[in-house]
Amino acid sequence: MNILLLGSGGRECAISWKLSQSPKCKQLFIAPGNAGTQQYGSNIAIGINDFPALKAFCLQHKIDILFPGSEEPLVNGVFDFFKNDPELKHIIIPGPSKVGAQLEGSKAFSKKLMARHGIPTAAYAEFDAQNFEEGLTYLERHSLPIVLKADGLAAGKGVIITSDREEAKTVFTDMIRNAQFGAAGATVVVEQFLQGVELSVFAFTDGTNYVLLPEAKDYKRIGEGDTGPNTGGMGAISPVPFAKGAFMEKVVSRIVEPTVNALREESLQYQGFIFFGLINVAGDPYVIEYNCRMGDPETEVVMPRLENDLVELVLQMGEQRLNEVHIRHREGAAATVMLVSQGYPGDYAKGKVVTGTEQVADSILFHAGTIQRDAEVLTSGGRVMAITSVAPTLKEALAQSYRNATLVQFEGKHYRNDIGYEFPDA
Ligand code: ATP
Repeated sequence: MNILLLGSGGRECAISWKLSQSPKCKQLFIAPGNAGTQQYGSNIAIGINDFPALKAFCLQHKIDILFPGSEEPLVNGVFDFFKNDPELKHIIIPGPSKVGAQLEGSKAFSKKLMARHGIPTAAYAEFDAQNFEEGLTYLERHSLPIVLKADGLAAGKGVIITSDREEAKTVFTDMIRNAQFGAAGATVVVEQFLQGVELSVFAFTDGTNYVLLPEAKDYKRIGEGDTGPNTGGMGAISPVPFAKGAFMEKVVSRIVEPTVNALREESLQYQGFIFFGLINVAGDPYVIEYNCRMGDPETEVVMPRLENDLVELVLQMGEQRLNEVHIRHREGAAATVMLVSQGYPGDYAKGKVVTGTEQVADSILFHAGTIQRDAEVLTSGGRVMAITSVAPTLKEALAQSYRNATLVQFEGKHYRNDIGYEFPDA
């Protein structure tokens, strides 16, 4: 198979690492990729939303699988672009149609879908310019804290949680009246606050059948003890110690199966990954969000724990044979620690030389924000590199990653020292 993977983050580095291990992978290209992905395939300088350029490349290189790493091309309709073109429609895409991708692309869309199918999620109301005044009154009476979400994609910055009612009203006004998030915030979802521990569950579906991949927990805040601003993710662990038994049975019967069935019943042309951002509220799971692709940095722990051949899985999805698949999890635990640039998630410098990677022996280095410049690897993003380790216990996996985190060097390197802190005995 010739495969074209879209993206340039740690997630895509982990996916390219996994795809390249398959005997079925003949040629792997990554558009645009990073300094890490080029160990597993060839980076090509095409933007992930440049569909005409992707078409030309796919035809020239006889691509069999187009693998979108992030939500952007999916929400922009890459699936539909390919499936509506007679020259491209044979290409297998593990990702949904444009309308299916609305599961992530519009929070109002996903909340309504959950409401129609009785899938547990926080109670909510939806407002825009038409019912703006009604929204202000609603905020006046809402219990604290208040969760405000811009409807559309806002690069992880469109969610504001506040216990200050006046601040909630200001944010609400800025989103709807002052276009703070552009079109993404023209509609706002106001949600009940749920208290609990979050986890990420991943299904891979062919539209009818699905399999569950290893679950994970990510650490979003910049500061230790989950403090400070949100980031793209500072680390992740898998498995999640409480994700078993009765709780996981509830996740499957109340959330995963009803979601897959809802997508099919509503003919949303959905195949590929469903990322369930869940919260465990006193033993009951609720959906916080859906994503239409894998998570980052969760992929950096999920792929090393997945024993199945990923190319084979994509082919089985394409043939609607996921009912025949048994997912095998590697025993033990995986942990990843993200090395980030000083200042992230605010302003940070780029172009710092990364050294010491050759000393890392017992972890996998998944590059995120890096580029190759001649013989050197330079930082090019806030999240620079994910250090993943797999070991019999979480404690050992974390110790391995932290040992290696000291060996990789670049000016301004920063990382959280407490990934997995809630589970000291796992
Ligand atoms: P992401 O970057 O994860 O894609 P997003 O912008 O799509 O984020 P959400 O995942 O919906 O936004 O929310 C971001 C975070 O805010 C969640 O991971 C969770 O920690 C918190 N959050 C969202 N909704 C709620 C809620 N109803 N109750 C409590 N916390 C919430």
